[in-house]
Amino acid sequence: MIAYDEAWFAARAQPGVQRLRAYDPGHDLVALRRRFRESQLVELGSNENPYGPSPAARQAIVDQLHALHRYPDPLGADLKRALAARHGVHPSQILLGNGSHELLMMLGQVFAGPGEDVVFSRYGFAVFALATQAAGATMRVVEALPREHPRMPLGHDLDAITASITDRTKLVYLANPNNPTGTWFGREAFAAFMARVPGEVIVVMDEAYAEMADADADAASALPWLASYPNLLLTRTFSKAYGLAGLRVGYLLGAPGLVAVMERLRESFNVNGPALAACEAALGDEAHLQCACARNAEQRSALSDALAKRGLRVYPSQTNFVLVEFGSRTAQAEADLVARGVVLRPMGGYGLPDCLRITVGDTDENRRLLAAIDAVLE
Ligand SMILES: *Cc1c(COP(=O)(O)O)cnc(C)c1O
Repeated sequence: MIAYDEAWFAARAQPGVQRLRAYDPGHDLVALRRRFRESQLVELGSNENPYGPSPAARQAIVDQLHALHRYPDPLGADLKRALAARHGVHPSQILLGNGSHELLMMLGQVFAGPGEDVVFSRYGFAVFALATQAAGATMRVVEALPREHPRMPLGHDLDAITASITDRTKLVYLANPNNPTGTWFGREAFAAFMARVPGEVIVVMDEAYAEMADADADAASALPWLASYPNLLLTRTFSKAYGLAGLRVGYLLGAPGLVAVMERLRESFNVNGPALAACEAALGDEAHLQCACARNAEQRSALSDALAKRGLRVYPSQTNFVLVEFGSRTAQAEADLVARGVVLRPMGGYGLPDCLRITVGDTDENRRLLAAIDAVLE
């Protein structure tokens, strides 16, 4: 009798998929919510926005309910127009995705394959490795800046990334700021990087947290360079600063030719109707966005200080999470925190087993988090 188990099917999958492991979403939140009544669970493991979306986005969804039997606009034209106006680009430079995760995966599939390299930093966003492996391409993982680096420990080493590009390299993935480290690089470093990257290599800048970076922190966006470098593109998302993770909408900005090639692979109705309408409405509520980002920056700073005061190393961050070193106590602390209904993200899968990634919550969540940490570390 053949056992039609995972191993049997994996042996029949294409080589890239044989080596792949599924994305690790962390804890089983549905089970945890059932165990702790929802009000008792402090969910700080997935970098969600505690302030939620603009009320205009909720209303837009309600206004769509009469049309659920209709397919959405396959082109997402209204949302693209709004995004184009916001970013000063042409609608033909925009590709919409079911989350930016989908777009990052598609980029690997479209531009890389067996025998070709994809370059990204160690501790870079997890999807970069998934996208490369799914495409059957080779991962070139470049060492990050060391933990002892005075300014940006664990940050992308842009010089080392440039140095590891070869004539087999098809794609480079950067994240600025990066998840799970929270680290970032500035405009000058990025300009120097782009000037050295061969024009045949496509550079992907994942800017999932761009809206949350302080104006004076100098976290570079690829946006001002798009016109000079057709091989450069950026991805953004409505999941983080806009508080719409549940809708799954992300977008890519790049050269019209690049977007046209990606369109060949895009599933025709990848973004649903209520999501299109809600994101368009969210873009119209700048005050809500700014308010959420300001509160996040305030809480990020307060939480970082409070954790540092407890003797924990907190890495610099321009996002809505902080990477925190718990040392040899990490696994025990994490387990004890979950037992108390405080969910953080373990970092063993990223090769940082002595760290936890903590999403910056609102005042109440951060207070409960700190109380739990005090109890657990006692
Ligand atoms: C959260 C995140 C994303 C994407 O999220 P989607 O919800 O798929 O849009 C992309 N990149 C980074 C670095 C992230 O942290």
